[in-house]
Amino acid sequence: MTMTITHLGTGSRGNSTLLETPRAKVLIDQGFSGTQLAKRLARLQLTPEDIDCVFITHHHGDHGGGAKLVQTKWNIPVLANERTALELDLVPELTTHFEALDLVRVGEDLAVLPVPVPHAGSDNVAFVASHGGERAAIITDLGSWTDELIAHVRGCEHISIESNYDHNKLMHGPYPYSLKDRISGRGGHLSNQQTGEFLAEVCTEQTRSITLTHLSEKNNAPHIAESTVLYYIDEIFTGDLRISAQNGPDFSHYIGQEATETTAPNKPLK
Ligand SMILES: [Zn+2]
Ligand SMILES: [Zn+2]
Repeated sequence: MTMTITHLGTGSRGNSTLLETPRAKVLIDQGFSGTQLAKRLARLQLTPEDIDCVFITHHHGDHGGGAKLVQTKWNIPVLANERTALELDLVPELTTHFEALDLVRVGEDLAVLPVPVPHAGSDNVAFVASHGGERAAIITDLGSWTDELIAHVRGCEHISIESNYDHNKLMHGPYPYSLKDRISGRGGHLSNQQTGEFLAEVCTEQTRSITLTHLSEKNNAPHIAESTVLYYIDEIFTGDLRISAQNGPDFSHYIGQEATETTAPNKPLK
């Protein structure tokens, strides 16, 4: 009874994460082309037809840009809130609207809870997936957080969260001031420091793995994100901290009873 969490790739050029239980295979976001999605799944010995459904966090192209495509090309159902479904012009017959904080069940062994997060110009949600009494949170694209989000993420066994930019790199980097303001504002993205502060609030001894996602290629670097976040959670967190790259899939995390096993059923071949 394990659930694997595999990032097919995260970043401004596309995001998608595979959650796989014995009875369900679900994607969180689909920001890739059909070719890219099929290629990334093939590395896990899967095809798009194996996917039961796709949950979309929000309508921005790097998260929802390939949502309609999975409906028209492979008949895969998509779940999104009303605003996101409207913005993405999803196929009505293959679309289910979820409401914030209403648990969605997939198959017999997976439940997914959408939790609202602040991200300008969109109706964005984080997802907390439960399987066999354990939980994994997938959180991306937020400029700040709410007490509600903290309450739902605290004590999750796995947490994937964006660590978008290094504040100094952003401020001294090539972006125009208006864009710098938008990224660092309350409705933008989390800096490494903010991600560290958030994780310090939600990590407990139950938290066994963390993945930092959606790193900016211009305004961040994996070693800076990792060291900045570790500074905040060093005392609390003794688990596995990884970074998700734009070009995945590169690793899997596990929650569930056999979470200590080291051989992945879906280990990438490359
Ligand atoms: Zn976004
Ligand atoms: Zn994004």
